[in-house]
Amino acid sequence: SVGLVEPEKKVDSTCPYCGVGCLLTFNVRDNKILYVGGRDGDTNHSRLCVKGRFGFDYVHNPLRLTKPLIRKEGAAKTTELLDPQDIDQVFREATWEEALDFAASGLRKIRDEKGPRALAGFGSAKGSNEEAYLFQKLVRTGFGTNNVDHCTRLCHASSVAALLECIGSGAVSNPVEDVAKAEVVIVIGSNPTVNHPVAATWFKNAVRNGTKLIVMDPIRTEICRFAAYSLQFRPDTYVALLNAIMHAIVAEGLCNEEYIRKHTEGFEQLRDHLKDYDPDRMAPVCGIPAETIREVARLYATSKAAMILWGIGVSRHVHGTDNARCLISLALMTGQIGRPGTGLHPLRGQNNVQGASDVGLIPMVYPDYQPVGDAGVCTKFEKLWQTQLDPKPGLTVVEIIHAIHDGKLTGLYVEGENPAMSDPNQNHAREALAMLEHCVVQDIFLTETAGFADVILPASAFPEKTGTFTNTDRRVQLGRQAIDPPGDARQDWWIIPEIAWRMGLEWSYSGPKDVFDEMRQAMVSIAGITWDRLEREVSVIYPCEQEGDPGEPVIFVEDFPRKGGRGLFVPAAFSRANELPDDEYPFVFITGRQLEHWHTGSMTRHASVLDAIEPDPVVSIHPLDLEALGGKPGELISIESRRGKISAYARIDAGLQPGSLFMAFCYNEASANLITNEALDPYGKIPEFKFCAVKIAPGGKL
Ligand code: SF4
Repeated sequence: SVGLVEPEKKVDSTCPYCGVGCLLTFNVRDNKILYVGGRDGDTNHSRLCVKGRFGFDYVHNPLRLTKPLIRKEGAAKTTELLDPQDIDQVFREATWEEALDFAASGLRKIRDEKGPRALAGFGSAKGSNEEAYLFQKLVRTGFGTNNVDHCTRLCHASSVAALLECIGSGAVSNPVEDVAKAEVVIVIGSNPTVNHPVAATWFKNAVRNGTKLIVMDPIRTEICRFAAYSLQFRPDTYVALLNAIMHAIVAEGLCNEEYIRKHTEGFEQLRDHLKDYDPDRMAPVCGIPAETIREVARLYATSKAAMILWGIGVSRHVHGTDNARCLISLALMTGQIGRPGTGLHPLRGQNNVQGASDVGLIPMVYPDYQPVGDAGVCTKFEKLWQTQLDPKPGLTVVEIIHAIHDGKLTGLYVEGENPAMSDPNQNHAREALAMLEHCVVQDIFLTETAGFADVILPASAFPEKTGTFTNTDRRVQLGRQAIDPPGDARQDWWIIPEIAWRMGLEWSYSGPKDVFDEMRQAMVSIAGITWDRLEREVSVIYPCEQEGDPGEPVIFVEDFPRKGGRGLFVPAAFSRANELPDDEYPFVFITGRQLEHWHTGSMTRHASVLDAIEPDPVVSIHPLDLEALGGKPGELISIESRRGKISAYARIDAGLQPGSLFMAFCYNEASANLITNEALDPYGKIPEFKFCAVKIAPGGKL
């Protein structure tokens, strides 16, 4: 023996980070996770990326919240972020009883005095389906409003808006593993090596076996090394490029006329619309040669099976819904959907953003995307939940922040979200949070948002609870509790009903399984999935409407879940980004994620290995731009927009187009969202995180 500590138990679970939903095993001793191993299953076949394998020790970080906290009398709220070292100056410890009473009474007071719509809730895409279901139910039945949303609004809301409109379902048509069956794979607006690393390995394996990969992205990323075509187009010209590809398909007679006739509607309007998008005209707009556009069009349209996967590069624009509409039209006009190796796959970000959306953590739909405005649907949920519901759809994330700023909304319950880092134009968002009359935050760390709270409820981390999670493939999987929460921290499924009771609701759940059983009544898509089956099987993919159904990895085989069963072509007109570079702000600023850090960094920056690899804020810049600035790699540069200014260490990246910068939004000492633009896509209500105008200068200070 060399003194290795042996685990005393192994607990099968899933990864808490991205939507790939890799299966893993926690190896545990003395309530500590010693290490993590990959587990076999369809999503990952035992593969894990650096986050899944080494990113788990955030749960043991000494900065974990272990006691309920109440803001001290006289501790004023300012727009400054609270340093965790100063937590005792602002908050005092409380018992659970006192904290829950305080949290609920503040929310109740606002509801009763100002009306339900003066309240809102931000739920979490990192929690389980059961927690998300309970949270939206609490806001709808206890607060009395549909003002409930989560980070899908900052992620794929525009993709979902387009998918629901055009093909009647917001989820993927085919699982990631189908890339192995595709002749051609388009990956657009996505850097999978960083954001969906294990999925990226399947893309690379497919290429090795003969699949042709077409990457389209404003940034030339690592996956381009495997691409037959790499189209590095201008950052806000998705619609111009995709319409030009479709123009070429129509012009060369490559449409699947039979599929269009049998399965779609609206093609004539699209064909007329595309006349303005000749590749020769669009080439100078998007920066891709017309012949390349035509070659890609031929390759995609004529292949036996072609699949499109996209990331938030597509959706995080003011024209994000239009971008996704084009991708859907491309699949429909060529009949590249409804078979293995074809279809549409928006790669979902957080580990449970698919599930949180499915269970209704969205202001305009109830569970299973049933519209709030539909009287019949409303009556159904009133019967199930035994209460009257607000018939008006609620506000979205950024709209809620605006409503707080305007003084119309004064109470907020934040469960596991971090709007003080994730929302655009942070100076405005933090001003709004500081204005709240009553703010309840439930989280595992003193997040940047928790510093604005009136009461903080210490919650459970992923390995400290059991629940179901739905990955990007529509796969429902069990996350199992491996360790106990620290100190007095409690499981979220317990905290939410405690608030509900105090808001006057008579809930009675004995555990997540009880909640899941109620979800099956509310959601026909998962009605056939039993908890016992999830215990037995590695995962079950929905739709699974009857017990015993195998689940459907490939959907839209016969028709689409729209009235009449046909897919709809929705033409999209090209328009530029909301804020264009000019003489004063000549650079384009693009935000996203890094391999080692996840979203606002609340978990990964507390994970020792990950934070050691990427400890400081960096901004990627083209080497020619850095040279012109007179800077060197590793030196600080400042980045300033019309909304704010930050500094970060320069990192050269020749994959960027000159004149553009890229930065992750996980660093609170240099929050990229201090300078992003809050302009919204009119349909998906998603902010334009992927494009704003900035100027840069050497130097600066963190
Ligand atoms: Fe976790 Fe995603 Fe990495 Fe898999 S690819 S280990 S789910 S972060």
